[in-house]
Order: sequence, then structure tokens, then C-alpha cells
Amino acid sequence: MEFALIDWIRRQAGSHPRVALGIGDDAAALRWDSGADCLVAMDMLVENVHFSIPEATPRLIGRKALAVNLSDIAAMAGRPLAAFVSVAIPRGKGMAFAQEIHAGVLELANRFDVALAGGDTAATDGPLVISVAVIGEPGGRGIVRREGAKAGDWIMATGTFGGSLAGRHLTFEPRVAEAIALHEAVPLHAMIDVSDGLAADLHHILEASGVGAVIGQDAIPVSPDARNLDDGKTPLDHALGDGEDFELLFTVSPEDGKRLVADSPVSVRLAWFGEIVAEPGCRILDASGQSRPLPRAGWVHEL
Ligand code: ADP
Ligand code: MG
Repeated sequence: MEFALIDWIRRQAGSHPRVALGIGDDAAALRWDSGADCLVAMDMLVENVHFSIPEATPRLIGRKALAVNLSDIAAMAGRPLAAFVSVAIPRGKGMAFAQEIHAGVLELANRFDVALAGGDTAATDGPLVISVAVIGEPGGRGIVRREGAKAGDWIMATGTFGGSLAGRHLTFEPRVAEAIALHEAVPLHAMIDVSDGLAADLHHILEASGVGAVIGQDAIPVSPDARNLDDGKTPLDHALGDGEDFELLFTVSPEDGKRLVADSPVSVRLAWFGEIVAEPGCRILDASGQSRPLPRAGWVHEL
């Protein structure tokens, strides 16, 4: 499966003096001789896996392909600078369709002051594939990794979770400015952007940091989209498992958590819904005080 393969690739790749942070986080960090650090994120969208036509217009496909990468740079508290876009376009789609994809990329790139600096183009008999690499730089306080969560930390997130397939997965706002503002306000200990699902991505932080967590069921910020679904699953199930919310999930010291709650540096909703504990694993507490293990769940690409 996907994670076992990535683990194998990581072991084969080994270490390299240029690579300050390699495979295993939301973006890699490279170090030049000049002392500057360079962040690189790369994510690919595949037709009928990450989007379906015609629900996704070519403009929205281009937008999403860049947005997921901006979200990965945001997860490091980085500033995105330039994008490279590779597309394999099914034969017969035509010039206007391909231009619309790039119009979607450029619209978002312009808004985030990101340069479209290159890419690659091919025609294919298979499905549409678009792969984007984004280059960025760390903010003033440096990058935030998935590791770094400490026992006692508050677990916090921007926005709300669940039901993104109703449309938000194509139109979400990457939390670039929010990540930088939060990390400037207080030192963030660990951060990830929620692509696989709140439960799965919390587990990614916990495993990278070698800690556990207890979260409060009633404090989890559930999105209106998740409440409106009527498919047998509860809104909470959707919030924990759906994925593609592309919100920031992060941990801070309790003192800094209180500061953020009292005086938030961002206009998007901030939620505090759990605490990091020393014992590995994750438990979820219901209103009556009963706790149960929270399964990892989340989206996995089965190979
Ligand atoms: P995210 O959900 O944040 O985009 P992924 O689960 O896609 O993260 O990737 C996790 C890590 O594995 C990242 O560091 C990514 O660069 C790396 N990775 C994924 N696929 C490959 C691959 N085929 N070769 C090398 N590294 C990979
Ligand atoms: Mg990510």
C-alpha cells in the first residue's frame, strides 16, 4: 500500500547533505551553500481519483492542482514562490480545455503572488493527470514539521471538517497567510494540512512526534457540509474521516493556545479540541466522559 511504498522509497533514498528535511513531511527543505533554505512540495491529481469531469471544470482542476501544493507549503508555515505544472491531457480534449486548466492555475497563482515558472505537456490515451511542484521559502521563524508535538500541547485547527466532496475539495482556500500569521504570533510545535482526513492526519503528527492524543468529540469543528449529508454516517464520522479539507492541524503549548483563543491572529475560525499526551495512540472522549480509541482510518491509495 501507499505508505509502505513511501517508507521503502525513503529508506532507499537515504540521506544527503543538501536535504535538511526529506521524504515524510508536507514539503522537503533543501539547504544551499548560501545558507538559504528552499521548500519543495509536489502533488499530483488523477482524473476519477482526485476529481471527476464534468463536476470539475478544467478551470477548477487547474485551481485544485495548485491549491493542494500551496496547502502543503502552508503546512510548513512557508511562503510559496513559484510553481511548475505538468499535464497529461487526454487526446481530443482540445486547446481551449488545456488553456482553461492553466487559466485556473494562473488565477490562483496570481492571487498568492506565485510565479508559474515551467512545467511539461503531453497528450495521453489515459485519464487526465496534472502534477504540480511548488517552490517556497521558510517564514521568519523557520519551518514547522509534523514532528515536534509535546505532551501537554493543545491540538488546534483552522476551519471546519467533513463533507468536502460536496464541492469544497475544488474551491478551498489554501491557508498560507494563516499559517504564517499563526507561527509569527506563537511558535507552532507541529503542523500538517488535512488531506487524508482529520483522524489520519492527526495520527501522522502523533507518529512523527512519538506521542499520543486525547480529543474531545464535542469540540471537533464539524462543517455544515458534513451535517447536510444523509448517507448513514454521522457528521462526526465525516469530520474525522472524509479528508480533502485542506485546513491546518497544529499543536502549541497550552499558554500559547490560550493566547491564540483569546486574541486570534487569523480571521478564519480556530478550534481547540484536544491535548497531546505521552502515551502513544489516540483516544476520543464523548460528552459523558467515556473514551474510546480513535482509529487511524482516512484515505489510502491501495496499490
Ligand atoms: P501529502 O498528503 O502532505 O501531500 P503524501 O502522503 O503525498 O503527503 O506524501 C508523504 C511524503 O512522501 C512526502 O514527503 C512526499 O514527498 C513523499 N512521497 C510520496 N510519494 C513519493 C514518491 N513516489 N517518491 C518519493 N517521495 C514520495
Ligand atoms: Mg500535506
